[in-house]
Amino acid sequence: MTRNDELFDRARLSIPGGVNSPVRAYRSVGGTPRFLTSAKGAYVTDSDGTQYVDLVSSWGPAILGHAHPEVVAAVQDAAGRGLSFGASTPGETELAELVRARVTSGGRSPIEKIRLVSTGTEATMTAIRLARGFTGRDVLIKFAGHYHGHSDSLLAEAGSGLATLGLPASAGVPAATAALTLVLPYNDLDAVREAFALHPGRIAGIITEAAAANMGVVAPDAGFNAALSAIAHENGALLIVDEVLTGFRVHPAGYWALESEAQAAEGSDAYSPDLVTYGKVIGGGMPLAALGGRADVMDFLAPLGPVYQAGTLSGNPVAVAAGIATLTLADASVYARLDATADLLSSSVSEALADVGVTHSVQRAGNLFSFVFGDYTPSAGGAPRTYADVQRQDAFRYPAFFHSMLDSGVSLPPSVFEAWFVSAAHDDKAIGRILDALPAAARAAASA
Ligand code: PMP
Repeated sequence: MTRNDELFDRARLSIPGGVNSPVRAYRSVGGTPRFLTSAKGAYVTDSDGTQYVDLVSSWGPAILGHAHPEVVAAVQDAAGRGLSFGASTPGETELAELVRARVTSGGRSPIEKIRLVSTGTEATMTAIRLARGFTGRDVLIKFAGHYHGHSDSLLAEAGSGLATLGLPASAGVPAATAALTLVLPYNDLDAVREAFALHPGRIAGIITEAAAANMGVVAPDAGFNAALSAIAHENGALLIVDEVLTGFRVHPAGYWALESEAQAAEGSDAYSPDLVTYGKVIGGGMPLAALGGRADVMDFLAPLGPVYQAGTLSGNPVAVAAGIATLTLADASVYARLDATADLLSSSVSEALADVGVTHSVQRAGNLFSFVFGDYTPSAGGAPRTYADVQRQDAFRYPAFFHSMLDSGVSLPPSVFEAWFVSAAHDDKAIGRILDALPAAARAAASA
């Protein structure tokens, strides 16, 4: 019995499933979750003292690698001045200004005002309340397979058929709440237009992941997000772009900016989200998230407006210090490094799988990537664009692949429906270790 086994047994006596967030339990890959004791750069170390190259990166925040010395120093310095005040601090405004200055395209920022909260769940929960409060409407559109945290309205899942009102995806979500969420197929603009036609004057907003990355990575079709903005605005509704995962990871200013650059190259203007949510990277590994957007909408929040939102730890000074340090250090060279590493790893995994005849699709959205197992060649319908497309994959191949990599000292996300996260600390040595592990993992996937 390993120390990890002992710790898992002990944890399960006091903590439901032994974990504080379900995916950590390794349910979809099997085996004992690794209990981590430290993390540095590209590596994490478990309680048995085994070191792994980490491609989870705390599910996104660690773009600089774990425990970057300057971020740790900023946190220590802030902590020395007090852990939490429950009052305004200069750092909050500094971080707000930093975000507004970064998220610009053609001299314009969609982030006119921003409020700091503690988790992505809070950011999206507040954004939809704000959309409902601002428009005076109740119904919300989300896309099947998109994850926006675990607030009631956003746990609704697709029923069958276009306008089927949502059914709860979790016990405990009142059917009446889920019924106000329309769940539509991703990348399907006709479905969105039809929903507005079927529910005139009732839809407050559309929420979409800037690029879907919680069903594995499924990028939006070119122009999809821009079209959502246009359709929402034609119908008096708001567009909420959820950049909790993509924000400050795929580009210094997020997926919106990546798309804006592509649009500018074609001579068109950037599309306008009304609200944008951030999390993960913005807090540099500390509990911090945000929602921002149009000033007239944001000013609907209390104390100026009638939509309530608050938080004892909102804008926590230690978390803000980590966020400022992380964003300040994440310069163009960091993103160039992330992009190059993502290119190399995604093509190397693909080659290793192809070498042993495992058919798959490489899914990319900027430097985020994942793999979908199965035949997604053009004659079989092409690369996945919807949740239904990724659900029909040969998911049974992933546990064998995952465990082979883990045995070789590489920690991957413990689910095929998650993105892989690289960091700027993944140097040649760390990448070499990943590349060395691939042939055996591909063979394991082939014989699964
Ligand atoms: N939105 C997106 C797109 C996410 O990926 C996540 C978390 N993975 C959330 C919201 C929720 O964030 P948190 O876990 O911080 O509540």
